[in-house]
Formats: sequence, C-alpha cells, structure tokens
Amino acid sequence: AVWVSEIMLQQTQVATVIDYYNRWMQKWPTLQALAQASLEEVNKLWAGLGYYSRGKRLQEAARKVVSELDGRMPRTAEDLQKLLPGVGRYTAGAIASISYGQATGVVDGNVIRVLCRLRCIGADSSSPAVIDQLWDMANALVDRSRPGDFNQALMELGATVCVPKAPLCGECPVKQHCQARRRVEKELAFASRKLFGKPTPVPDVEDCGVGGCPLCPPAAEPWDSSLGVTNFPRKAAKKQPRTARTATCVLERRGCHGALEYLMVQRPSSGLLAGLWEFPSLPLTQGLQEEKQREMLADHLGWPVMAGALRLIGEVVHIFSHIHQTYVVYSLHLDEDVTLDPALSPSCWVTEEEFHASAVSTAMKKV
Ligand code: SF4
Repeated sequence: AVWVSEIMLQQTQVATVIDYYNRWMQKWPTLQALAQASLEEVNKLWAGLGYYSRGKRLQEAARKVVSELDGRMPRTAEDLQKLLPGVGRYTAGAIASISYGQATGVVDGNVIRVLCRLRCIGADSSSPAVIDQLWDMANALVDRSRPGDFNQALMELGATVCVPKAPLCGECPVKQHCQARRRVEKELAFASRKLFGKPTPVPDVEDCGVGGCPLCPPAAEPWDSSLGVTNFPRKAAKKQPRTARTATCVLERRGCHGALEYLMVQRPSSGLLAGLWEFPSLPLTQGLQEEKQREMLADHLGWPVMAGALRLIGEVVHIFSHIHQTYVVYSLHLDEDVTLDPALSPSCWVTEEEFHASAVSTAMKKV
C-alpha cells in the first residue's frame, strides 16, 4: 500500500490520487493479485492519472517480486532501488523507512525546500553537489527509532509550514535551527541599528559566501533581502517544453445496436502513453498546410478515404510534462463497415460509454 501510494503521488496531488488509490487497492490488494493483472487492466485503472509508465512499472515490479523473489518484497532502500523497476531513490527510502523501519532518509521537493532553508543552501537545488549534500543530511537527521514518522513529518513540514511562497516561520517547530530565518533576523537587527545610528556588527563568515563553494548562492545571484527565507531553494531555469502537432481523426459509424461507435487504435507498448488507446493519429511537421494534413491523414487511415471528406473540427491543446501538444482534430462519419489497414491495428470500435471506461489518456478525452 505504501509503495502504490508513493508511486501514484509522484508528480501528482493527494486529492487526485485518493480515488485512484482506493480503486487500485480494492482491485489488487496483494502483490500476487497485482502480478496477475494485465497491462490493459492497469492502464484502464490509471487512465487520467498521467505518467502512465508508473502503473506499468508497478505491475512489472509486482510480477518480478512474485516470480523472481519468492513473493518477498526487498526490505532495504538499496535493494528496493536495485531490484524493482520504477522505484527510484526517493521511493525506495520512503518504502524502507515507512514500511520496514529502516533508518534511511528521503529527499523530495518538500524536503529539498526545508533543508535548503535550514542550511542556507543557495546553489541550484537540482545540481548533483546539492542533491548529494541533501541526501547526506536527510540520512544523518533521520530519527533512528521512528524513521518513517520522521520522514513523513519532514515532508509534511514542507507541505504545510515551510511552503514555497509564504512560509509560516513564526509557527515553525524547527525555527531555532533555521539559518535562513537567522539571516533574516540579523538583517532586521542590522537595519534597525543603522536606523538608530548604532555601530553595526561585522557579518559572520557564514554570511560571506566562499568563492566557488558548490552549495552557496552563485556570486551573480546573491541574497535578495526582499525575498527573505524564500531566497532558498534556488532552481535552474526550467527547460521550455517542446511543441508538437498531431492530426487525429474521430471516425464514427452507426453500430449494430444503433448507437454511434468510434474507432480506437492502441499505441505502441513503449514510449509516451504506452499501450493506451487513441483516435487514429499522425504526428505532423510544423507549418504543414491544411490540405496536406488531410491528405496525409487520409493516407494514414489506410483505405480509400477522400481527403476532402475529413471535416476539420478544431484544435485541442494538451500540456504533457515536456511537450506542448496540439491535436488538430478531424472527424469522419462512415456509412459502411470498413476493413482496417493492419498497420493501424490493434484497433476496435467503442461506444461513448465504453470510450470513457477504457484506457485512454486525458488528452484523448479532450479530443
Ligand atoms: Fe522554513 Fe521558516 Fe521553518 Fe526555516 S523557520 S524551516 S524557512 S518555515
């Protein structure tokens, strides 16, 4: 259960996860049950939660524990990370400390923020030197007798008190250990002495920064008094997501029971949205004229479709973590039953109700 929740909570809010978690645990309450699930079932349950490879790896890992490890979960962070697909350093630490009581630390986004503030670490918090330092600190700090509680408390501190924009320093249980807060207090004292014409103290060595230190703020971006403790952590500029355009065609027909049906094809078993179902789609190169798009899409559908019969419906934008994706949506109503090009398979016709219950991404639901 800890493992499932930790994987679901990667990059995803608690409020979103709860329903998925409950349904997952009800369907697969044990490792053995999960090991027997198919990827199709996993994708179906995961539909809408995003980062689909997480569900796939969870299932693969359960299968591995059952078939290769005699059904016994690895119990240390080192073994969890080494043996289980999809379990990284953070997840391994969380499972080992919360489930098995191993005295090992965890470093997630919340912990990074708290520790960088506690120790005035101002270098890019994603740099290897900072990350290594944070892991060393987390491993040194963790409570030996209640590591799981300690780790959850540290993460909770970051989520509720030491929050990104307006931390509640006055209510913080570790404020007397916090160097960022001490620095703010010193600055205030310095300013008030100056105001009243009193002699000002010489700054501490710790305030000066040491040239070339991999943990200090870079010389070009010194401490900004207006930001206070939120000077930390520092992040490198975010990479812009790449843009992509895809033509997609909603093909519909009247099914044998009179209801409208839509053609879905399955994506490849690896890569983005692996194994999920989508309307037949085709990546487009930038700047392609509409006429050419139609021709390419008609060609891709693989049977004699007049490009002109495709009706342009509009565009849908969906942001994946690293891709700004635009779907150019066409539709086509078919009067006759058609045989599909094997290149499109596996494929199937679904009603609207079936569509919503299948393993389709949020992007396709928008389409
Ligand atoms: Fe964060 Fe403020 Fe607490 Fe320091 S005193 S750890 S900055 S909330």
